[in-house]
Formats: sequence, C-alpha cells, structure tokens
Amino acid sequence: MTAGRKLPLLGAHVSVAGGLSTAPGRGKAIGADVIQIFSKPQTRWAGKALEEEDAFAFRGETARTGVKTVAIHCAYLINLGSSKESVRTRSLYALEDESSRAAMLGVPYLVMHPGSSGEDPVETGIARIASALRKFGRFPKGVTLLLENTAGQGNSLGRSTEQIRELLDASGAPPDVAVCLDSAHLFEAGYDIGTDGGWDLLLGEMDRRGLLPLVRMWHLNDSKTDLGSRVDRHQHIGQGKIGLEAFRRILAHKAFREIPMVLETPKDGEDDFEMDIRNLATLRGLAGSGG
Ligand SMILES: [Zn+2]
Ligand SMILES: [Zn+2]
Repeated sequence: MTAGRKLPLLGAHVSVAGGLSTAPGRGKAIGADVIQIFSKPQTRWAGKALEEEDAFAFRGETARTGVKTVAIHCAYLINLGSSKESVRTRSLYALEDESSRAAMLGVPYLVMHPGSSGEDPVETGIARIASALRKFGRFPKGVTLLLENTAGQGNSLGRSTEQIRELLDASGAPPDVAVCLDSAHLFEAGYDIGTDGGWDLLLGEMDRRGLLPLVRMWHLNDSKTDLGSRVDRHQHIGQGKIGLEAFRRILAHKAFREIPMVLETPKDGEDDFEMDIRNLATLRGLAGSGG
C-alpha cells in the first residue's frame, strides 16, 4: 500500500444492546474506524429519553476505543412523505428527537430514508418531504442529515439521482442536508455498479446533478436480489449479485476518500462479529489493491 494514501474510514452498523455506550467497544472489536447505530429501538416511535450521563459515557467510549466517527440511522418508521398528516407530524417529532440525540452524543451524521409517497404520485411525496424539512429548519450545530438512496421498494422515494436532486432542491438545498449512498439500494434500484457502463452512468448522473460533493457516507452492502429488483435484501460483500468490482470502484474513487463507509450486512447469529471482520478484510483488500 502506498504510504500516506488516504483511505476511506471503514466500519459497520453495530448493536447497542446493553446501552448506547457499549457500541464503540463492539466497533473496536471488529477493527472499525467508524460505526453506525440506532439511537433507540428502530421500530418504535418513542425511545427512553437520553440521559446526559449516558451521552457522556458514549462520548467517552468513542474516544477511548479510537472509533473516529459515528452515524445514527433514524428509525424506519419516520416517513415525512406519508399521505397521513398524523404520520408526518409524528415523523417530524421523531426526527427532532433523533437530531437532538445526535447532538448530545457528539454524532455528526444522521441517516434517514427520505420516505414513501404510498399511493400518491412521486411529486406529491417529494413536496411533502420538502415541506417537512423546511418546517424543521436547521439541524443542531455539527449534525448533518444524510438522505439515503433507496431500492425503490414500496414506492419509497430516493431511488434515483433525479429524485435525490429534486428532494434537495425542493427543500431549499439546506447546507446541513447531504447524501448517503447504499450500494445494495443502488443496484436494486437499477444501477449496475459492478460494470463499467453502470458505474459510469451513475457517476455521470451524480456529477451532472452536482451530487458528488454531497456524498458524505456510503453503506457498503452486497445484494441478494437482482439488478433493478426494487427489493431490498442485503448480503455479505462478494456473496451477492453486485460483484466485487463495484466495491473496488467505490473505495478507489477520489470523491469518496476519507468518508465513512459502513457495512449493514446480515446479522443472523453467532458469527456476526466474524462476518463483520471478514467483510472488512475483503474491503480493505480491495481498497489496498489496484488504486
Ligand atoms: Zn438505511
Ligand atoms: Zn443502508
């Protein structure tokens, strides 16, 4: 490996079982530079209020373990594009809660799926999300909201660079809103990033729409489902349908140097740590070769 060559920060989504402050230790155990967590149960609206001492313990553990940065993935329930006003209102409160947790924990990135328009047209969903983000206003200092691209499952918004650009523009392109790309979602939404043609198409679109500098994070996942399936099923790196070449390209691209990249590969039991370690070794191998 070339001395001084800057590599992306690699890590994984880790569990917070036993308390938030246990997460950085799990990251250290797999050799992660970066971790992603849920800051509360991801399938419920309300979590226990975050105590100052828990936040203090989390920040202390992050520093002690040498984990360089952290992202919070918002609860899946949040849908600012819902046709139901009650859901949009609850979503806005939940986003407020997630962002204040991020600020307390010293976490700079808050990842959110843009939402779904349900039975309504895409434009209606985008307008609702944008209106909610405008209502939300500024995020706490040091916290950036990252809109994650989606597989397009169930009319979820954000499956194309066009939709992401529209979401940002309609929201007034706030300085504290940027983008997180998920490799599995890209593939499932129809971007064949393992091939030259598919990769060039994606990068060309991103460049034309001014999105490249807005990519602040990657989720590195292989996909169990086919290209364009619009069905979101993650797989271990190299064991899915995307192909290792896609990951080599992501890891080598100059626009993505030094940005955090986390695995969200399947967690199904006893060898979870082992699989995270193996996936990270695969990625580090790809990052160190052919660059
Ligand atoms: Zn996600
Ligand atoms: Zn993801």
